[in-house]
Amino acid sequence: MPATPSTRIDHFFSGAEARLDRWRELSRAVQVWAAKNDAASRTAVNTALKELLPFEDFQAYPGTRLVASMRDRIKAGDTVGSARIVQRISASLMSRAYRSEAGEWETEDEQSGGGERQMPTASGDPSARPYFEVLVVAPSPSQKWPAQIQNMRKLRRNLDAFIYEPVIVGNFEDAVLGAMLNTNVQSVLIYDGFPFASTHNAPVMRQFLMAYLDIKADDLAPHDYGVRLAQAIKKIRPELDIFLLSDRNAEAIAADPAADCVSRVFYDVEEPLEIHLSILQGVQDRYATPFFDNLKKYAQKPVGTFHALPVARGKSIFKSNWIRDMGEFYGPTLFLAESSATSGGLDSLLEPTGNIKKGQEMAARAFGCDHVFWVTNGTSTSNKMVEQALLQPGDIVVVDRNCHKSHHYGCVLAGAQPYYVEAFPMTEYSMYGGVPVREIKKALLDLKAAGRLAKVKMVILTNCTFDGHVYNTKRVMEECLAIKPDLIFLWDEAWFGFARFSPFYRGRTGMGARDELKRAFKDPAYNEAYKAQAAKFGKDLNPKDKRLLDARLIPDPKKVKLRIYSTTSTHKSMSALRQGSQIHVGDEEFHTVIESFHESVFTHASTSPNQQIIASLDIARRQMELEGYELVMRSIQLALELRRSVNNHPLVSKYFRMLSVEEMVPSEFRPSGMKDHIQDGITWMDAVKSIRDDEFVLDPTRLTLMCGTAGFDGTQFKGILASEYGIQLNKTSRNSVLFQTNINNTRSDVANLMKVLVEIAKKVDDTLTNGDENTRKTFNARVKSLVEDVPNLPNFSYFHDKFRDNPKGTTLEGHMREAFYMAYNPEGCEHVKLFSSEADKRARGGLPLVSANFVIPYPPGFPIMVPGQVIKPDTIEFMRKLDVKEIHGYDKDLGLKLISPAALGEGRRKAAAAKARPAAKKVARKAKKARK
Ligand SMILES: *Cc1c(COP(=O)(O)O)cnc(C)c1O
Repeated sequence: MPATPSTRIDHFFSGAEARLDRWRELSRAVQVWAAKNDAASRTAVNTALKELLPFEDFQAYPGTRLVASMRDRIKAGDTVGSARIVQRISASLMSRAYRSEAGEWETEDEQSGGGERQMPTASGDPSARPYFEVLVVAPSPSQKWPAQIQNMRKLRRNLDAFIYEPVIVGNFEDAVLGAMLNTNVQSVLIYDGFPFASTHNAPVMRQFLMAYLDIKADDLAPHDYGVRLAQAIKKIRPELDIFLLSDRNAEAIAADPAADCVSRVFYDVEEPLEIHLSILQGVQDRYATPFFDNLKKYAQKPVGTFHALPVARGKSIFKSNWIRDMGEFYGPTLFLAESSATSGGLDSLLEPTGNIKKGQEMAARAFGCDHVFWVTNGTSTSNKMVEQALLQPGDIVVVDRNCHKSHHYGCVLAGAQPYYVEAFPMTEYSMYGGVPVREIKKALLDLKAAGRLAKVKMVILTNCTFDGHVYNTKRVMEECLAIKPDLIFLWDEAWFGFARFSPFYRGRTGMGARDELKRAFKDPAYNEAYKAQAAKFGKDLNPKDKRLLDARLIPDPKKVKLRIYSTTSTHKSMSALRQGSQIHVGDEEFHTVIESFHESVFTHASTSPNQQIIASLDIARRQMELEGYELVMRSIQLALELRRSVNNHPLVSKYFRMLSVEEMVPSEFRPSGMKDHIQDGITWMDAVKSIRDDEFVLDPTRLTLMCGTAGFDGTQFKGILASEYGIQLNKTSRNSVLFQTNINNTRSDVANLMKVLVEIAKKVDDTLTNGDENTRKTFNARVKSLVEDVPNLPNFSYFHDKFRDNPKGTTLEGHMREAFYMAYNPEGCEHVKLFSSEADKRARGGLPLVSANFVIPYPPGFPIMVPGQVIKPDTIEFMRKLDVKEIHGYDKDLGLKLISPAALGEGRRKAAAAKARPAAKKVARKAKKARK
């Protein structure tokens, strides 16, 4: 929200929340007025009303009649009546009662029995019919709208599965605003012939139209408005159904490729019932959950089970003498829905032909890709599936060393050679960001210079990272494809599946960027730009050309193949059960790998996939297609509020702060100059610019709270929040903890967290105020150690020559699988104590220390050693300074597990020399003794 109130309606990340805030404000003002009944409080009511009314033009409820009745009361100075009606509408909005209670739509006169009863909006039973709104864009004068609304309501039938209310707007700009601000809208009905400009004061809207949608009124011919509006709305909310009504040649419009985004074109005078049914059908297509629907049916059927799953139908539980509490706890439905059969309409996840296939196709539509594979073993498995399917032994993969461990293991399984690239370090917070595109290009160009580019198959990056760094997916892919036009990208979007449903994030997902690139490659201007680049740098880029690293490269649109995969832990950001994950495929060469892909699915998938996880994937898709936009916008809004509350609170901000964009993303990656989401006066325009241009943006729903400045290390603070305040989180660094908001958070969660932070800050403050000089000294020393004395994070060194095709060359890839399996032979391994002079000596020179396994400290949670890696002094130093308890792959008592020099064939010469050294010393000692 802006610092100063404004009647402009185009300022917000979330119009829905902004609107409710205005209702709360009006409600407060009216109550004060009712109590005081003075001029000042009346002015306050009018101001609040003026702030609110523009929002109401885009909403079906309360609608023009109730709003008019409310305004009349306020105008008449009826304080009590005004308070009553404002209260009533606010309550209905907050509780959402208007969605199901017909009475909520009536004016007071109607409610008290007088007046004509309005057509009921819902059938009386609130749970029966889901409610939505239809945005109607009409050229008719606004006086005619109430009648038009009544006519649409008359089409309702008792057998409709859903109930909707129309909202009418009269021009292009208002239609875009309506689609953005009204989260109830599921369908848009566009009548050709409307004007362009909004009657609202919406200057930022105009900039937004131009910047985000690339639309200028002057460039459009009025007869194109309909199709262009459909495109614009689809870009913001691709899940909406759009119907176009035209009195022009409907067939011609329907045949226009630009009208692809329109669900159906009607001839204006066609049967209104047909339109009504199309609207309902469109929502039904998203509401349907083929697998879940069938599972529900299955659970109702009496079934005799003779397959292996004793809990199916719950008989082994409810008849047990000892485990009946399991049945009580989970309820019978869970067991009725359990089956190991793939018959009875339950499809097979491994070879889907029925409702799982259908469900996956619907998911592909929702997530904007060509194919979806549901996975019931988490994204850990999805990643391995993709990697094994597409990589062969010896292939090179450019991969973020900081990525999830499943990728490192995926490389081992596939026998691929990882080429580790480094994310930019954020040493002061003991964290990593993302991998700069320059690093990735450098890796590819070095590989090209070494004649090894042909072996490079894939680039793997995490988008977004745990801490919220979001890549410029489009730019990364363009620049990489400029160097190798058939590279495959695997975007690990474990955290980021929800991003598809916000226009702000969408372009920065793997699949969102794919849409933009597909469009761009068809644009003749792109080809021209490529030709200009080719004239400058040549068609075949010279890897030695130093200019390339800093140039913004684009690929040859005629040569490029778009091969994009993304994986997402649906359970991490949407309503799926744990381990529910999806592979999204957007690969134009998929037909060439489909067999290996299925083979890989068979390799990794369980033959007993969990039915409930599958159903939840189906349901998560339904939810996101119908309310993802609203929920994601709300979680962003809550995150922004939390940031603002912490950083502006006088006491809390004394000891804690939420790290800003500026602190999380170094300025070189932020050409837009965006400093923070909650910077004063920040507009959509700034946000759009940053999202379009910056190399990294920060996902505002990832909130890193600096706690080192309050004297807590991350792990300690996490412990306090969990044990004393019942607040759970899972990521920490040396001096920070990470909060996340997601689609389940509410304002009360934010309020509760604030309350806790205030309490903790107060305790710290009291201790320091009441303590003596010593207390303050100790505190300051602790803060200094947490915030300033942070260990440097070492970069990946290199693989031992034994594992490199390109020994001592400039490229870093290595055969990690070979090293990994060498560790299975105990004779070929040795241990060296971390705190030993041998470790120091060998790290500095002499017989190399070569890691036999992955060593993964938590945090930071990625391998600081991988099999075959030569360990250098900086890694030894880092390990020694590590003050975390959990280090996978490292046994304190045994020391570092290494591949022995002998096993590496590390020069019998060198080994002999090492043996010789003590002998020589002995001789020298003897000689010394003899001299005495
Ligand atoms: C959590 C996570 C995974 C693994 O996903 P699961 O669903 O837990 O198996 C993979 N990659 C990233 C980036 C993750 O955060």
